Amino acid sequence: MECVAAPSPNFDDRPPNTPVDILLMHYTGMETGAAAVARLTDPAARVSSHYTVDEDGTIYAHVPEDKRAWHAGVSYWAGARDINARSIGIEIVNPGHEFGYRSFPDAQIAAVIALSLDILSRHAVPPERVLGHSDVAPARKTDPGEFFPWRALALAGIGLWPEGRERHLDVPFTDGLRAFGYGLAPDMEVTDATVIEAFQRHWRPSRIDGVADGECEAILAALLKAMDFS
Ligand SMILES: [Zn+2]
Repeated sequence: MECVAAPSPNFDDRPPNTPVDILLMHYTGMETGAAAVARLTDPAARVSSHYTVDEDGTIYAHVPEDKRAWHAGVSYWAGARDINARSIGIEIVNPGHEFGYRSFPDAQIAAVIALSLDILSRHAVPPERVLGHSDVAPARKTDPGEFFPWRALALAGIGLWPEGRERHLDVPFTDGLRAFGYGLAPDMEVTDATVIEAFQRHWRPSRIDGVADGECEAILAALLKAMDFS
């Protein structure tokens, strides 16, 4: 993998016996890629990721994969709260919802795909654990956002994308979200609607309204079925 070295001091050791089993996608949410790389490598910022992928496809390497980079913040997935400890984080340059969210250029997505395949060749990350920041921190985050081409990644072998729909979700929708991994519990100070929006942003981006309609149920049922087989 051809990367530009842009080392960040913002990392520490992964806790012992913690497998890397999540691949976490972000957008940078800053006006330029240069500004994002500067921040991710600034000791005062105390944030980082393992990689940043610029809009032209340039890949910057910040933190070795065996170290814990600081990208997820307060987060939750499937019972785990230290998502940094068990994940590889990729920042994808995009101004984000604050500065003019736009679709991701083809060259950038090609680089994200190549990088992700490379990462997945080294770590046993199940498809259902290729996630966005908004999946693990729905109350705080909306990245990488509804333009992120999850389906294109899945077609390349990265993550899940159910093409089919299941007729029946045999549990209440919120129970299904919880079973899939979403953090939905009283102590998480997040509403059902917020988590449903996070679900939609990833899996049904054409309508993000926090309402679990029949299509959402069918997609979630398909995801739960796919997870059982992965
Ligand atoms: Zn993020």
